[in-house]
This record gives sequence, structure tokens and C-alpha cells, in this order.
Amino acid sequence: MQAFSDNADVTHFIHGEPVRGSGTRTQPVFNPATGQRARQLVLGEAADVDAAVASAKAAFPKWSDTPPIRRARVMLRFLELMNRHRDELAAIITAEHGKVFSDAQGEVSRGIDIIEFACGIPQLLKGDYTEQVSTGMDNWTVRQALGVVAGITPFNFPCMVPCWMFPVAIAAGNTFILKPSERDPSASLFMARLLKEAGVPDGVFNVVQGDKTVVDAILTHPVIKAVSFVGSTPIANYIYETGAKHGKRVQALGGAKNHMVVMPDADLDQAVDALIGAGYGSAGERCMAISVAVLVGDVADKIVPRLAERARSLVIGNGMEAAAEMGPIVTRQALERIEGYIAMGVDEGASLVVDGRGLKVTGHEDGFFTGGTLFDHVTPEMRIYKEEIFGPVLACVRVKDFTEAVDLVNAHEFGNGVACYTRDGHVAREFGRRIEVGMVGINVPIPVPMAWHGFGGWKRSLFGDTHAYGEEGVRFYTKQKSIMQRWPESTEKGAEFAMPTSK
Ligand code: NAD
Repeated sequence: MQAFSDNADVTHFIHGEPVRGSGTRTQPVFNPATGQRARQLVLGEAADVDAAVASAKAAFPKWSDTPPIRRARVMLRFLELMNRHRDELAAIITAEHGKVFSDAQGEVSRGIDIIEFACGIPQLLKGDYTEQVSTGMDNWTVRQALGVVAGITPFNFPCMVPCWMFPVAIAAGNTFILKPSERDPSASLFMARLLKEAGVPDGVFNVVQGDKTVVDAILTHPVIKAVSFVGSTPIANYIYETGAKHGKRVQALGGAKNHMVVMPDADLDQAVDALIGAGYGSAGERCMAISVAVLVGDVADKIVPRLAERARSLVIGNGMEAAAEMGPIVTRQALERIEGYIAMGVDEGASLVVDGRGLKVTGHEDGFFTGGTLFDHVTPEMRIYKEEIFGPVLACVRVKDFTEAVDLVNAHEFGNGVACYTRDGHVAREFGRRIEVGMVGINVPIPVPMAWHGFGGWKRSLFGDTHAYGEEGVRFYTKQKSIMQRWPESTEKGAEFAMPTSK
């Protein structure tokens, strides 16, 4: 497809067509493995958001009036197309994000899970009904679509995170505008084309590419009813406040610093595998990556040397090479930020056990690569502990017991994901109950909830009331209406002035 060939421009997708829109500003999109500019992104302006909103607004009455089962059938066709094209989509993701191909395939699969969930929309929209709330009167509730809604997404999951939003929103009868990340925008256009091929009417799904200009136009647009955001915490906070000020329903998922507690009774082989996979997989650029290992009692002395050996021997290269376990970092700026944090950790007094800085991959000397980095003796006041690094840097914190581990996790400003490795059922149960984090894994390092459970952190990892996807997603994209009805016989008496009660 031409739009995905090298050097092609990446455009918007409005009213069922790729369009360049009104913007004259552009930004390069890189292949992070080669460090070469691969395509050019057309950055949108407020007028492009206006055009997308006009199209989405015009499409809404007919789409929201379409019976849910027919909307579900369109989603089923989209599901089939996503399954058929999953590897093409995964290759697009690897080419712009850098993650290894098998990981990109996994991302597409987890996105497809949500589409499968959205195909159940007739059941999910079923309301409640009470017969005879008063003599001759019934009361029921329905959930109706909001109208035009928007999603603003991060670079690290260019397929899966948009799929947390638009399948449920569209299936519920809304029309949608997606503002993808500027770093890896092509997956959004690929999915837009598949949606069109599946029979989604023009205007129901639109993409406006761009930066803060487009985001601000979305947040302040009077027609847009709701905004879903996933990205870093400062921007999530801004999106929540600005969207709410402009009368919108907002869910804004933010950053993370995910801990994995390893108890002395844990299976240490499993714990080491889990820390390596969850710490360095996708180069640590996952919001559910483990970035802090909380090592209880004598665990640190036993596993830090093993972690070091594994971190040093990670196979790092172009994500399209089958042997690669870790790909490059998304941009040169992100690489510099990550390596800057490593220097800061050394200055702060942490022990740098494995230093990944300055890695050169043969044949890809200009790629944005860094190796796996491991720190030991990290303490809670250090910035490398407090702040999200979002790279392949694992920090080990030593604590004396379970209570200190729980207190450490609970004191952190983020509360996205957490894991506990133990073989003690009581410890596991207490951990699940006492930990102040939205998503918890017991012997599961990356507990990303399945499509029907919903995804969301606590504290400064989520602004808003509802988690993404699952039934919470259906609630977010619909509003409840209660209807009371009676069909009185002609002998009814006249006006009543007291508060109505059940008779
Ligand atoms: P980001 O916050 O830089 O960007 C996210 C989106 O916001 C992009 O579409 C971007 O264009 C837009 N944006 C950036 N700066 C903006 C500004 N000043 N004003 C308005 N809009 C702006 O995040 P990123 O670097 O793309 O993604 C990584 C971050 O996302 C990490 O912090 C990660 O933890 C987080 N994340 C969180 C979750 C979650 O579910 N909690 C999931 C994935 C990623």
C-alpha cells in the first residue's frame, strides 16, 4: 500500500478518505532501528479537527440509530480483516516503534481481543427493567451513545491502545476521532482503511494527525462529548483538567513506575525470568513494564548477579530479526533522556551493575540503541526511583520484609501495575488486598487485564473515574437514561402535587 511505503507522507483520514488537510507543517517519522527518516507526517491544524468533527457529527444520527446487532456485524467484519492483516500491521509497528516483531504481533492480538469484546455490544447495551414500580407503571434504563468522541494515544502501543478506545466507542453508536502519536502514526491509517473495508460508514472513524495544536482543538471543541487519553502523567493531568473545563467526559491514563516484589520464598528462577522479560521487553517502553525490583530479605544477594548476567546477554537488534529480544528506543531524544537518567543514577549514588549506554549494533550504527541497564542499592529518594524513565533500566531496591515492601509501593505517586512473586498464599492474598495499585499480578509480571475486565491504574496513573475498555469502557462511551411509562385508563384523576410514591 502506497501510504506505508518509505518516503510516503502520512496523512489524516477524514470522511472515509486519506486527506492532507490544511496544515503545512510536517515532521519526520523515523525507523528507529536504522536511525533513518522513513516517512513524513502531515501535522494537522484546528481546521482539520473541524473537518473531522463535521464529518463525525453528520454520521452520528444514522450510525447511532443503526441496531446494535448490525453495528456488531460490521465489527465482526473488521475483526476478520484485522486477523487477516495482523502481520502487516505488526511489521508497520516494528518499522516505526522498533519493538521486536513477535512483540508487535502480541500487541495486535491484544488489540484484537478488544474488538472481539466490542462485537458483544448488543448484550453489553442491554438495560434494566422493573415492571410495576407503581400500579400500572414500569421503569427501565437504557444506555445511549454520547455523540462525537475522541481518543489521543501514545507511541508505545500504536495499535493496541487505540483499540482500547474506538471499537467499544463505535460499537456503542458513537462516532470517533483518533489523534495518534506523531512517532508511529501509520498503524492508525492502516486500521482506518480496514474499518472502511469492513463497512464502517464514512465519518464514523476519522484520524487527525498532529501535535499539541490538534490536541487543544479537540479539548476545546464544543461538539466533542468525551476524550480518552493515554500517555505521560503531566499531559494526562492537562488533558483531564482542560477537557473537564470544556464540559467533556474525560478518562486520562498516565505514566507508571511498576514494582515487582520478590519474596524470599518465591521461585527465584521464575522471578529472574519475569524481571528480565518485564524489565527489558519492548525496551522498557511499556506502561506496565517492571522498572523497580523490590527484593525482600536475602533475595538481592541471590538474584542480582543472575539478573546482571541476563541483562548483559540480551540479544539486541533490529526488531525484524527473528533472534532479537529487544529492539531500539523510539527516538534519539528518548534515547538521550534514558541515558541521561543512567548518568543521574550514578551521580545519586546507586550501584551501576550493568551499563547499557553507548551500545552500537553492527550494521545499524545509526540506530537508536541502548543496552539493558541494571542498578542495585537504589533508594526511594533518588530521582531514578521516583521518576518514570521509560526505557530498559531496572532499579533494584532492597527491603527487609513484606511490610516494608508494601509501604514502599504504596508511597509511590504512581499506581499503574504491580507484581508479587511468592509461594505463600497468605502473603499473596494480603498483597492483593493491601496494595494501592490498579492492576496486580501474583506471580504474573505484566498483569494487563483481559478485554472484558478493563485497564486502569490508581493515583497519578489515571485521571477520571472509569478504566479503559471492558464494561467500564461501555459506561464511559454511553450515558444512562431512565424511562418511566404508564398507559393510564381514561378514568385517571387529575394533577397530583405530592412527590410521587409507589402506589
Ligand atoms: P506523551 O504524553 O508524550 O504523548 C501522548 C499523546 O499526547 C500523544 O498523542 C502526543 O501527541 C500528545 N501530547 C504530547 N505532548 C503534548 C502536549 N504538551 N499537549 C498536548 N498533547 C500532547 O506520551 P508518549 O511518550 O507518547 O507515551 C509514553 C507515555 O505513555 C509513558 O508515560 C507511559 O507510561 C504512558 N502510557 C500509559 C499507559 C497507561 O495505560 N497508563 C499506556 C501506555 C503508555
